[in-house]
Amino acid sequence: SWSLSQRLGAVKPSPSMAMARLASEMKAQGQEVLNLAQGEPDFDTPANIVEAAHRAIDRGETRYTTVDGTPALKKAIVEKFKRENDLAFTPAQISVGTGGKQVIFNAFAATLDAGDEVVIPAPYWVSYPDMVALCDGVPVVVPTREEDAFKLHPEALDAAITPRTKWLVLNSPSNPTGSVYSADELAALARVMRKHPHVLILCDDIYEHLVYSGDRFMSLLQVDPSLGDRVLIVNGVSKAYAMTGWRIGYGAGPQALIAAMATVQSQSTSNPSSVSQAAAIEALNGTQGFIAEHNLVFRDRRDAVVARLNEIAGLRCICPDGAFYVYPSCEGLIGRKTPDGRTINTDEDFVAYLLRDHGVAAVHGGAYGLSPYFRLSYATSMEILNDACNRIAAACQELR
Ligand code: PLP
Repeated sequence: SWSLSQRLGAVKPSPSMAMARLASEMKAQGQEVLNLAQGEPDFDTPANIVEAAHRAIDRGETRYTTVDGTPALKKAIVEKFKRENDLAFTPAQISVGTGGKQVIFNAFAATLDAGDEVVIPAPYWVSYPDMVALCDGVPVVVPTREEDAFKLHPEALDAAITPRTKWLVLNSPSNPTGSVYSADELAALARVMRKHPHVLILCDDIYEHLVYSGDRFMSLLQVDPSLGDRVLIVNGVSKAYAMTGWRIGYGAGPQALIAAMATVQSQSTSNPSSVSQAAAIEALNGTQGFIAEHNLVFRDRRDAVVARLNEIAGLRCICPDGAFYVYPSCEGLIGRKTPDGRTINTDEDFVAYLLRDHGVAAVHGGAYGLSPYFRLSYATSMEILNDACNRIAAACQELR
């Protein structure tokens, strides 16, 4: 009989998707579930972007395109980097894929040999370590501390790098913590990276536009242009433009890396959807006004959720500057018992209790590599968030 690859043994399915599936199963059974586990904006794609897609279909843009993006989309991306980040790229340094996710996968597939190490600060976006494992690499997880707002300490970074290190992964604003690195913090990390010229740096800037307080977003490459020959910036339209289902992400980096990533993509999926690429051009070139509007809404929700969580005995939540997640600690609840006598030993026990007994879906911190915490997404209405906070408060109060 057939068997799965050994490689797959090191890979788990996405826990946020698993949570979302559990929540929808409970809903199907007639239970009311408030889903704070999903990582996508609750807004609709803006109308100008949807119309651009319709026009592309009407023009017959329904065929294969260049594997890693149409010239028109690459041009729009080059202009985006110039306008928003003061970074100069040529179209040959741009790669468009089916979401930022594919771009990251291409980068690892194009560069990792068996045993190559990838430094990943925790808590991390769940896909990084599993993608590394799928490409036969070794994730080297470096924990951060809540006192540092879950940001990587330069000394911890330095200590994690070995001769086998191929990549450092940085994600600001962060999923799952919402933390945003300041220019000074990036400069300190850049100083460490200058000592290790054999290491590539993947800057996952996909939440760039979702910053509500603190410093303005800065990309590592803006802070230290001398790293230009080994930084890959990953970004995309999913989060800022409420386009998660369109599946367009892009990378910008050294031309040789970009060319290798195109080779990987040419032998897996070929081009991302032609219609979605046309829509992404409008997203990048069109009016940007709704981003600020969305951000006002996100900021109000963040403030409300953080305030409510900090009123709950047993929970503690720092106020992040960006993305649409909070990452509260449930340390104060570990060891307590539920009304029916189950002990909360881990953050996973806590989120299971929240879902089963109180109908709130969250994701446990263990999934992101740092416990005892849990992630809540506030990309949902204030009404649902209020209801969810009431239920979380009741759930915590019932613990003995
Ligand atoms: N990077 C981070 C940190 C994310 O949270 C996500 C989506 O959840 C992605 C990348 C990939 O997004 P997409 O593939 O939709 O561009």
